[in-house]
Amino acid sequence: MRRMLYRRFPGLARRRYAQLCRERLAIGKTRHIYLLSFDCDNPEDLPALRSLLPLLDELAIRVAIAAPGEILQCDPAFFRHLHEEGHELMGHGWRQHSAIRDGQYLSTLYYHKLTDAQLDEEITRSGEAVASLTGSPPAGFRIPHFGHSNTPEELHRVHSRLPPLGIAYSSSTLPRMAIRHGPLYAAREDLLELPISPSFREPTAILDTFSHGFDPRARPGKGFQEYHAEFMRLLDYARRKPAWVFNLYCDPSQAAGMQGWWEKTIRAAHAHGFSFQTLDQFRKQYAVNPATPASLRP
Ligand SMILES: [Zn+2]
Repeated sequence: MRRMLYRRFPGLARRRYAQLCRERLAIGKTRHIYLLSFDCDNPEDLPALRSLLPLLDELAIRVAIAAPGEILQCDPAFFRHLHEEGHELMGHGWRQHSAIRDGQYLSTLYYHKLTDAQLDEEITRSGEAVASLTGSPPAGFRIPHFGHSNTPEELHRVHSRLPPLGIAYSSSTLPRMAIRHGPLYAAREDLLELPISPSFREPTAILDTFSHGFDPRARPGKGFQEYHAEFMRLLDYARRKPAWVFNLYCDPSQAAGMQGWWEKTIRAAHAHGFSFQTLDQFRKQYAVNPATPASLRP
């Protein structure tokens, strides 16, 4: 019902999200925040991520990297180096859940189709893969293809398995949860959730790179330039508000393949004073909000 309302009146959704950002960030000094994460789902993402590092270093941006264990294993030294440089490694499952064939992105594994035992194995081995590189379990987890796991039952099935492994937050929910709860909320007593932030014209949709030039089923006209245009509409709105949190992700192979349009959005956010943080830095800083259960405060 509310989802329909927000689709029909996007301005309402934007105002509500801005208001929740203001409430949640009331204690922080920096109120314009960009949480950038990379889903490194395929081996092709490794050289792409390498090609993006000079931009990140130039702007002093640290990102969260969600990679399945099988991808971490492709080049452990590279991922260890990224961790040492201050980037965050999130859990993102064990097995590869997508593939690129003839330039097309294919989904090869969905969590909602796994049995409880398979889910246990995926999540446990994911945590172990990160710990083998960093020395400790990941602070955060992202459900592979999480759009398919956004029913309350599926979210509960995954969320409930995270805290016993030492995981403090998940970033696996759709923008409608951001519009309802703000940029972070307690999904359970012992787990925070950081939902993906809303788009401008369709607030309940994710502003992602995949649907802008990489999804053969996307409507025509939704290309690289439209990604940039939609981000600029959002940025123009957000920077006039006292507080705003972008929580956006992309696959490096897509970001690096957008003929500079993705880079322009990052430079624009940086130029407008948005502070880039990793998801875990944000979680640690803002979990002290009174809306958060005491057990979750760092
Ligand atoms: Zn993924």
